[in-house]
Amino acid sequence: MADAPAECNIKVLCRFRPLNQSEILRGDQFLPKFQGDDTVVVGGKSYAFDRVFPTNTTQEQVYNTCAKQIVKDVLCGYNGTIFAYGQTSSGKTHTMEVNFLLMKYIKLEFTVWLCLTCNYMHNFLLQGKLHDPHQMGIIPRIAEDIFNHIFAMDENLEFHIKVSYFEIYMDKIRDLLDVTKTNLSVHEDKNRVPYVKGCTERFVSSPDEVMDVIDEGKNNRHVAVTNMNEHSSRSHSIFLINIKQEHVETEQKLCGKLYLVDLAGSEKVSKTGAAGAVLDEAKNINKSLSALGNVISALAEGTKTHVPYRDSKMTRILQDSLGGNCRTTMFICCSPSSYNDTETKSTLMFGQRAK
Ligand code: ADP
Ligand code: MG
Repeated sequence: MADAPAECNIKVLCRFRPLNQSEILRGDQFLPKFQGDDTVVVGGKSYAFDRVFPTNTTQEQVYNTCAKQIVKDVLCGYNGTIFAYGQTSSGKTHTMEVNFLLMKYIKLEFTVWLCLTCNYMHNFLLQGKLHDPHQMGIIPRIAEDIFNHIFAMDENLEFHIKVSYFEIYMDKIRDLLDVTKTNLSVHEDKNRVPYVKGCTERFVSSPDEVMDVIDEGKNNRHVAVTNMNEHSSRSHSIFLINIKQEHVETEQKLCGKLYLVDLAGSEKVSKTGAAGAVLDEAKNINKSLSALGNVISALAEGTKTHVPYRDSKMTRILQDSLGGNCRTTMFICCSPSSYNDTETKSTLMFGQRAK
């Protein structure tokens, strides 16, 4: 079997993206000052994390530092969760997935048709960007790593890998692999393990199949909503990888699962600007993110503290993959721009609560 598992704890990692073109043109200042590899100073206050990644950190460095070991542990039968937290446009999706060029094309509606009907174009876009080895975020790297490990392991082990992909929006769980399932509920199995009842599960046998499932879920999401960018910043998207292995002779079984969570944008909606549906959405996001913050900080405090898993659907689902024996990693994604000063500080504070 794989190497011995890493020491158990909650890791909080902070990543700053570079200034973007419009921030540079506006003359925004570059706020963070990096100290060593675990501290960042913003506005005179210093924030320490397990690791701080400055703007020039590559996707590969991020992966090797914090996700590689989790894959090994999940193959040893541990559960884990990797989150990306931060305001919209801070680099959550960049960190978790990859910069999906395909999705930018789909924004133009006619290309939905083009992509679905014109196979050549579809494959061209997929090969051009999805598999660009430098741009790949954590999920595609995990997919590759899992299968590399499996091919190197004992031939007598039989693997069954299932994935699910769903989102939580306004406290409703929507299956991204079956658009007819728009309000799934959380149940517990006979071992009191929580799961999303009725959620589609797909067996996968290669990294490409994993990425195809993600692609399918994203396409479904596009079709279901009018503005994908706005929608994705207001919903939590959750990708679950479930790994079962069985020894063909001894019949010994081992299960591990990994949740990969791209959280809704953490920005506060201005009290004056928001009304009606937007305000409801904002309240809802706020509630679910603070429920998550409460769970993580209770777990960080230690065993005697009550952990309020039941306060939100997301924390209920993740209950057996957070804390305890599980591998939990939280990415705190930040903008470096002076324009986002307030949001960046509140994002950093959220991360500090988990330490
Ligand atoms: P979020 O998911 O938090 O809303 P994105 O991941 O979509 O943010 O990032 C916003 C933009 O910034 C994208 O164009 C993305 O490519 C770019 N970006 C984010 N993080 C980085 C990074 N570390 N290096 C280079 N570009 C990045
Ligand atoms: Mg995003």
